[in-house]
Amino acid sequence: MKLSEWPRRMMLPLRALEDSLFPPTCWVTGRPVRREDRGLSPQVRRRLEQFIAAPFCRRCGATLGPWASPAGCQRCAQRRLGVGEMIRAGPLQEPLGRLIRRLKFQRLWAVGPLLAEQVYTAMRYHGAAPVDVWVPVPLHWRRRWRRGFNQAEEIAAALGRLSQRPMAAGALVRRRGTAPQTATVSRTARLANLQGAFIARIDPRLAGRQVWLVDDVCTTGATLHAAAAALKALPGPYRPASINAAVVAVTDSTPIPGGETF
Ligand SMILES: [Zn+2]
Repeated sequence: MKLSEWPRRMMLPLRALEDSLFPPTCWVTGRPVRREDRGLSPQVRRRLEQFIAAPFCRRCGATLGPWASPAGCQRCAQRRLGVGEMIRAGPLQEPLGRLIRRLKFQRLWAVGPLLAEQVYTAMRYHGAAPVDVWVPVPLHWRRRWRRGFNQAEEIAAALGRLSQRPMAAGALVRRRGTAPQTATVSRTARLANLQGAFIARIDPRLAGRQVWLVDDVCTTGATLHAAAAALKALPGPYRPASINAAVVAVTDSTPIPGGETF
């Protein structure tokens, strides 16, 4: 029997479920959208596509002008970043910033898969290296407990479903409650704040595999660097073959052409 032939009383709860997943209003603008728009108005989707297509530095994720080389940019030339390759869905600007805040602070779960879709599209568009396993950047247990969830894990789980590759959520542990990275300003201060912040557990799923770290926002790269350092400190046979990073957004104010205001 086709879905459209189901008795109406069976369809109603399904419709309600669908509406809660893909509400008839845009997650960004709050304006009405069609069901097939899946929670984002067409102009928001167009802007997100422009974000994905914009050239960026494959080391630090910064948006690049036509003068820079994708192998590295001025911003990251002097930095050790710890990850082989970085992919991002866009700069931390609207509408991407608003979507991240919807997930992180308003706990709108349906936005997690939507952000993962943006990241996965960026990976395919820019020909990212293959993935064996996704490792979300963990929160300290106390912060996770207070927030009730880890947004990086929500995104990594959705990436796992899209790519049919596993997520190893417990592979990294945040050892101590570091000060929130937004409170520490310089990159040196951030690196010092994070030194030894992660430990990697021995996990056969990571041994000799191509690991992709997942996070919502990358600011200076210090968090990813510390997470990668912990994975590299695993005993030889358990060490990943490569460590890359997929993030939703990189803090970057470089304008991307074609902008609309949201
Ligand atoms: Zn760079």
